[in-house]
Amino acid sequence: MHVPVDSAHAPVSHDAASRPVKRVVVAGGGTAGWMTAAALSKTFGGVLDIVLVESEEIGTVGVGEATIPTMVTFHRLLDINEQAFMAATNATIKLGIAFEHWRSLGHRYIHSFGTTGKDHWTAGFQHFWLSARQRGIARDYGDYCLELRAAEESRFAHLPRGGMNYAFHLDAGLYAKFLRAFSERHGARRIEGRIVEVKADREAGWISALRLADGSEIEGDLFIDCSGLRGLLIGDTLGVEYEDWSHWLFSDSAMAVQTATVRPPIPYTRSVAGEAGWQWRIPLQHRVGNGIVFSSRHMDDDAARAALLGSVEGEVLTEPRVIRFRPGQRRATWRGNCVAIGLSGGFLEPLESTNIHLIQRGVIRLLQTFPHVIAQSDIDEYNRQAEEEITQIRDFVILHYHVTQRDDTAYWRACRDLDIPQSLRHKIRLFAETGRVFRHLNELFAENSWVQVMLGQGIVPERHHPIADSMSDAELSDFLERIRTGVDHTVSRLPSHADYLREYCARPAAQA
Ligand code: FAD
Repeated sequence: MHVPVDSAHAPVSHDAASRPVKRVVVAGGGTAGWMTAAALSKTFGGVLDIVLVESEEIGTVGVGEATIPTMVTFHRLLDINEQAFMAATNATIKLGIAFEHWRSLGHRYIHSFGTTGKDHWTAGFQHFWLSARQRGIARDYGDYCLELRAAEESRFAHLPRGGMNYAFHLDAGLYAKFLRAFSERHGARRIEGRIVEVKADREAGWISALRLADGSEIEGDLFIDCSGLRGLLIGDTLGVEYEDWSHWLFSDSAMAVQTATVRPPIPYTRSVAGEAGWQWRIPLQHRVGNGIVFSSRHMDDDAARAALLGSVEGEVLTEPRVIRFRPGQRRATWRGNCVAIGLSGGFLEPLESTNIHLIQRGVIRLLQTFPHVIAQSDIDEYNRQAEEEITQIRDFVILHYHVTQRDDTAYWRACRDLDIPQSLRHKIRLFAETGRVFRHLNELFAENSWVQVMLGQGIVPERHHPIADSMSDAELSDFLERIRTGVDHTVSRLPSHADYLREYCARPAAQA
């Protein structure tokens, strides 16, 4: 159980807390560090002194290449030109994720962005589809979703009025470079150097400066810990504990490898379930990102490497490297004058590509609660929202593992036997008995996501809303056919994804 640090436990008590926040120090220059610096400099560039420290010697985690549609919003908030961003990061379009072998060996479904069919205010589209299915007049659920059909046909175009929901696959290293240039243009300063000491009053939760290997010190009023999995400031220095979720999410290891492109890029991520985890495949314009996420309790590194290299296509461009992690979150992501954003604050395996989204949410929330002087009420609210967000996503990720018919390995049997969180148990039961899904206030994944994954993983609701039965067979059939033919018509007029990329954002050959 997560216990937010509230005013009763650890109030802001340091003398420096009464000083206005003028100097912000970002520790770390991975995706988290540069997204933070970009948003801060764009918003407060003329007012705050923003410094980012990173160490080329240490490097970044170097993965994190699939995103969700909220990134489009982030770029709009920052006024980032999408074509320039896509060209600079060799990005492709992502319309969803194909889950292969997750429900059972040989089974496949797509969790796509966007909506499926049309809802009635009393009942989601799934109720009408379930009624039609019972009457033998429904096609596949995905046939009523534009993004899903476009993904299957490998087509894409920007449609008027946001008619197609999309996200990106991107090169993480190039994205950090792109955001670095953006941040520097808006006044952020970068300092190269290894942090060897964090000067702090640990009891008060107060950091005063970072000392670098060359002996220099960087003082600040607010410190953003973007130092990656280790959590140099929030964990090592301030001692904020980490809540471990590995009893629900067994994966604790990953291996990533890049390969040459051998076919036109598809506009979706592939997630292929294996013996003790799963593998991703992410097509970029210039190469493909591949990886395996696995449980070291159920598979050793050699077996993981063999599974990964045995399934990739195209020339292997990099040496596979192992990354260890612990699923979970910090018990507080903001403590004193330190805010943890990115891997330092928590980690959920990339099954639904949600970590960059969590970075983005952390940054936006920081800007929304940005202090004149640091106040405990801001800290409490920040931590409350952060905990709620990651917990809801955690449940969604566990769903994929737990609701499965697979029992071919000890790993999958353990997933099926999981004692899942009560919040998720309720959601699954509600859907299984009634077909209903309700989105919690600010929950990231909307009804359509839950329905697609619950149906995809094999839950067939026992009942549906009676409103759907009030339509005659002819009315229901007509309703569904109008949606389906509308989707088909739109998809048939879209260009291929590869052609669209060439027109919209191909990277000049000299930079590729
Ligand atoms: P890092 O990239 O590790 O950056 C840490 C920074 O801190 C570096 O610049 C480093 O040099 C610096 N640093 C550390 N210590 C010091 C020091 N002592 N002195 C100076 N500098 C220091 N997310 C998604 O949204 N989609 C995905 O598809 C996805 N896939 C993933 C796959 C795997 C296997 C893993 C592990 C993660 C994945 N993620 C994904 C998460 C994503 O990679 C991260 O959220 C993202 O890269 C942010 O990382 P970061 O910036 O917090 O940390």
